[in-house]
Amino acid sequence: MENNSLRDSVEKIIYLIIFLSISGGVIKTLGSVLGGSKSVFVDAMTCIANSLSIILILRFFKVGLKPPDVDHHYGHGRMILGGQISTLMLYSFVAGVIVVDLLESVSTGYTISISAPIFASIGMIPYIFAIIISRKYSSITLAYTSFTVVELIESGVSITTSFGGATISYLIDFAGAIALTSYLFYELVKHFRGFVFMMSDIAPEGVVEEVAKSIARHGVGVEKIRIRKVIENVYQGDIVVTVPPNMSLEMAHEIADKIGCELKDKYNLEASIHLEPSKKKEGDQR
Ligand SMILES: [Zn+2]
Repeated sequence: MENNSLRDSVEKIIYLIIFLSISGGVIKTLGSVLGGSKSVFVDAMTCIANSLSIILILRFFKVGLKPPDVDHHYGHGRMILGGQISTLMLYSFVAGVIVVDLLESVSTGYTISISAPIFASIGMIPYIFAIIISRKYSSITLAYTSFTVVELIESGVSITTSFGGATISYLIDFAGAIALTSYLFYELVKHFRGFVFMMSDIAPEGVVEEVAKSIARHGVGVEKIRIRKVIENVYQGDIVVTVPPNMSLEMAHEIADKIGCELKDKYNLEASIHLEPSKKKEGDQR
């Protein structure tokens, strides 16, 4: 029940962001078509890619919440990463379109009208609201938010350089477009690295130590701990604990059960716990 209402509110938030960001993108696209500005064009293209990527992030987020089933014994959490892959792909695609367009226009030159910076300014308004909302819920819109920073910078750059392009020379507008494109590529690389890191079964900092302390409180030894981050705040692991050799199987099992439940509740860690008889004499802790 709780999960459903959470999902509903998450959906509402994301649909609101999508609506705002599409509005901004449409206004900017109009500006780039009517005003002939390349920097506003780059700005508009990334806006549209952003809107589409949020739709995909939402889709994968929903899939990721599904409970374990026959073909996914560990749940579907990692499906959420599909949203990030989609974002990377959309931005790479848009980057390609932009490069082709810029190469074409540099040889011929072009003129920009004042409507370009005007539309770009108006288009910034819904986007600001979208960014404020997505910042507030950054944990669920992570891939999106990292790109909205680019969007804000892009809005500012496209407004000023298209204005310069309309009043002084188209080269100012073109330089703006080049700068925006370079930054897009830089962000793509950065984001890609972050994504690879996230799916690399990273051992979560701090969690391992906390888990070891938690287990030790049950009066058993900790022989080995392996923990990997599945997705933000969700962990899996296997743990080897040592119990006194004379402890009954029943008792040892009870302790292991308790530890398992505690780790699930406290750290959202699903661990398989292996028991071993301790070789040391009692009271001989290292
Ligand atoms: Zn499945």
